[in-house]
Amino acid sequence: MRNVVVTGGTRGIGLAITHALMRAGYHVIVLARNSTQEIANADPDWLSFVACDLMDVDFASFTKTLRDRFPIYGLVNNAGIGPSGILSTMPNRQIAQVMQMNVVAPITLTKYLVRAMMVAREGRVVNISSVVANTGYTGLAAYSASKAAIEGFTRALAREVGAVGITVNAVAPGFIETEMTHGLSEQQRQHIARRSALHRLPTTNDVANAVTFLMSDMAANITGTVMTVDAGNSA
Ligand code: NDP
Repeated sequence: MRNVVVTGGTRGIGLAITHALMRAGYHVIVLARNSTQEIANADPDWLSFVACDLMDVDFASFTKTLRDRFPIYGLVNNAGIGPSGILSTMPNRQIAQVMQMNVVAPITLTKYLVRAMMVAREGRVVNISSVVANTGYTGLAAYSASKAAIEGFTRALAREVGAVGITVNAVAPGFIETEMTHGLSEQQRQHIARRSALHRLPTTNDVANAVTFLMSDMAANITGTVMTVDAGNSA
C-alpha cells in the first residue's frame, strides 16, 4: 500500500483529501497539531495520525522518525493559514506567520520527504495553493503572496526532480466553506458564486478529487502544473 502524508488532514479540505485518498487505496499519514474523534476512530491500516506543529518543528529529526516508520510515496502540502486584514495595519508578526506556515514549512517538509522519493525513483508532491495567487483579493495580500510562492516552488521543483520520476503539482481552490473561511458573510459567498461560470461554489470534495487524480498513475505525465478548482470563478 502506498503511504501519502497529508498536512492538515484533520478537517476542511485536508479531511476531504484524507477520505478520498483512503477510498483510492492509499494509507494516509495525517499531520496536524490536534487529532479529532473521527481521526482517532479511523482504521489504523488506512490512517495514521502524527502530531506536529508545522510552525515549530525540527524538520530534520521529525521527518527522519516519519521515514523510519513509513516509506513515503506522496506528500500533500495542504495545511495553511489565511488571516485576512488590510496590509497597512497587519501586524508584522502575522505576515511572518503566514510566510512560515504557507511557504517555509511546506518547502522544508518537502525537502526532507522528497529524499525518500528520490531513492525510490517515484513519488508525488501536491501543493494546495489558491486562486488568489493569481487573481488577488482585498485583505489577503500576504496570503496571496504566499500562495504565489508555492506555485513558483511547484514549477521549479517539478524540473528538479522530474528526472527521477517524481511529479510536483499544485491545486488552486476558489472559495470553499471551511473553518478558515467562516468569517465571510452569506452576502460575500453569494457574490462569489454569482461571479463563477457555474454559478456555485466548489466543495472540499472537488479539491480532494483533483488531488487524488494528481496522486494517481493516471497523472504520471502531468507535472509542474496548477489545477484550478473554483467552479469557473477565475475563468
Ligand atoms: P482549515 O483551517 O479548515 O484546516 C487547516 C488544517 O491545517 C487543520 O487540519 C489544522 O489542524 C492544520 N493546521 C493549522 N495550523 C497548523 C500547524 N501549525 N501545524 C500543523 N497543522 C496545522 O483550512 P482549509 O481546509 O480551509 O484550508 C486548507 C488549505 O487550502 C490551506 O492551504 C488553504 O490556504 C487552502 N485554501 C483554502 C480555501 C478555502 O476557501 N477554504 C481556498 C483556497 C485555498 P490543527 O489546527 O489541529 O493543527
